[in-house]
Amino acid sequence: MGALLSAVHPVTTDHRRTQKTRLRRLAVGGQRGKTDPSHHTPYHLSKETVEALRLPAFDAWQWEPNEMLSCLEHMYHDLGLVKDFNINPITLKRWLLCIHDNYRNNPFHNFRHCFCVTQMMYSMIWLCSLQEKFTQVDILILMTAAVCHDLDHPGFNNTYQINARTELAVRYNDISPLENHHCAVAFQIFSQPDCNIFSNFDPEAFKQIRQGTITLILATDMARHGEILDSFKQKVDNFDYTDEEHVTCLKMVLIKCCDISNEVRPMEVAEPWVDCLLEEYFMQSDREKTEGLPVAPFMDREKVTKPTAQIGFIKFVLIPMFETVMKLFPQIEEAMVQPLRESRDRYEELKQIDDAMNEVRPQSDHGRKEEVNV
Ligand SMILES: [Zn+2]
Repeated sequence: MGALLSAVHPVTTDHRRTQKTRLRRLAVGGQRGKTDPSHHTPYHLSKETVEALRLPAFDAWQWEPNEMLSCLEHMYHDLGLVKDFNINPITLKRWLLCIHDNYRNNPFHNFRHCFCVTQMMYSMIWLCSLQEKFTQVDILILMTAAVCHDLDHPGFNNTYQINARTELAVRYNDISPLENHHCAVAFQIFSQPDCNIFSNFDPEAFKQIRQGTITLILATDMARHGEILDSFKQKVDNFDYTDEEHVTCLKMVLIKCCDISNEVRPMEVAEPWVDCLLEEYFMQSDREKTEGLPVAPFMDREKVTKPTAQIGFIKFVLIPMFETVMKLFPQIEEAMVQPLRESRDRYEELKQIDDAMNEVRPQSDHGRKEEVNV
């Protein structure tokens, strides 16, 4: 039994050692950057790429990791963060490389997801002219939290961590174990001088960035979705940019929007992400079945289909949240809310086709019509 458990809990079997090994390896990654001949060339992005990068419709699938790293680097320069905070451009490169190395190759929660979330944040900053509303410290927090928000994600969600009583769940007392871990890994990386983009900050400024980043990463736990959205709804009609509580709440909603924004993108970009997510869910539910743990219906390969997985999520999670943000930023309707409505309609049509097929062959598709709980 012990051997079985250690074989199926790669994340949690000697977690501390794994962490150290990873960070040591990453420090070496940083050294590698120093000897890279292209190291001092700022970036090799075409004018078209740089322009497309500012739009929610950007297609992240066509890029290699090193190209995504150049894009992330560009965003920090383009937003004036490197200049305003006197960030060492070489440290920025090394930090991003280290970030890349600390995302695992999960079907969904991988470096490309980190890139997509950050790119959506970057495009929202432009679309909503957030630099006119927020301080540069807030912009730095929004971008950095997006980059770090799923660091070292093991590919199994909080429910699994808690039910399987993993080392992460024990360490964080079942309270957002994953999000706490992502955050801790982020600040372990910053504790390495080679990767600390905040090394020029005075202690007070660092404290502010650290607190802000922690708050945003912890806000990405979907278990807190209702609580955070309700709090935002209470503020949105009398929103006050001079009220710190209002601004923090808005930033929490913004990172939440970006984190689950795939369906905002064009169908060809969005749809492959559903397959990735289901692949990760099925890996989890298969493991839960072998370990005798509870299985959520929306993760069960016997019960879920792409349309059933997406319809409820788009109708009851995405559209209500984006429509609330739209009260503050009407400009997102065309670029973000409209694509969501189109995606909902498309998946509803696909579901009707599925249902019609099930009526013809009910015995072959056992269980597919069951409701999916999002
Ligand atoms: Zn995420």
